[in-house]
Amino acid sequence: MKDQALWLYRSLTSHRRGQLLDKLRAEGKVPIAILFYHRIADRHPNDWTMSPEDFSRQLDWLQANYDLVSLEEAQSRIRAPLSDRPTVAITFDDGYADNAEFAIPRLVRRGIPATYFVATDFVRTGTPFPHDVEAGVQLRPNTIDQLREFSDLGIEIGAHTKSHLDMGTVDSYEQAYDEIVGSVELLREWLQRSVRHFAFPFGLPENTSQLAVDVIREAGLLGFCTAYGAWNWPASEGFHLRRIHADPGLERLKNWLTLDARKLRDDEQLPFTLGASELCPV
Ligand SMILES: [Zn+2]
Repeated sequence: MKDQALWLYRSLTSHRRGQLLDKLRAEGKVPIAILFYHRIADRHPNDWTMSPEDFSRQLDWLQANYDLVSLEEAQSRIRAPLSDRPTVAITFDDGYADNAEFAIPRLVRRGIPATYFVATDFVRTGTPFPHDVEAGVQLRPNTIDQLREFSDLGIEIGAHTKSHLDMGTVDSYEQAYDEIVGSVELLREWLQRSVRHFAFPFGLPENTSQLAVDVIREAGLLGFCTAYGAWNWPASEGFHLRRIHADPGLERLKNWLTLDARKLRDDEQLPFTLGASELCPV
């Protein structure tokens, strides 16, 4: 839907959305949203770049309407038996150099927590991401110094594999371990800080696997993010963190986060189970 049509659709359904939020509040079942962005910059606009002005507008709207919390606080709200506060956590994927100039200063200035997932091979070598090269744009990844600086500013750094591999294609334990635990260990070494979360590259169900989830568990991480485009309902395990793509713009974000009935579906068939006996301690 185009922005104008989306705005109209949201306006026409706003009463129903408000009623639903009231009902969920009363029941203590307000879901928690986790957003993911990629790159905030004023050059090379593409589907995963947002202008600094648009990003600021999103932050204005989010700050006016939601508690903006860290990923760890989002997890504790997901695990709590009751949730009555609209809550959003912000994450970034991949690790683009331009975020040092635009995204991170804006988040820090506003005191908004964020988790920043990077694929370590690109940080280490400075080479652009294959998905950008394919699209004909060469964009710089972050340097280790930039990640240290983000971390010193209170931004949590998380792992996003070494090579930005589609983990759904990996069936060797050694390779899964190297991509997941290898990237976590490298970040720990670079930053001298704990690294507690992982985000799957691409992040759709077919890009995840039982093997990868088992390795994440084994590594003792606090949780992992996918890009399932779904809410996180309270009173649930809070280890698998479902995220919503925020790059497509403010009108789409407003539509999602004001409880579009079309987006309130349950999980599709997941390619992994978390195992009730292994639920992560809160
Ligand atoms: Zn990615």
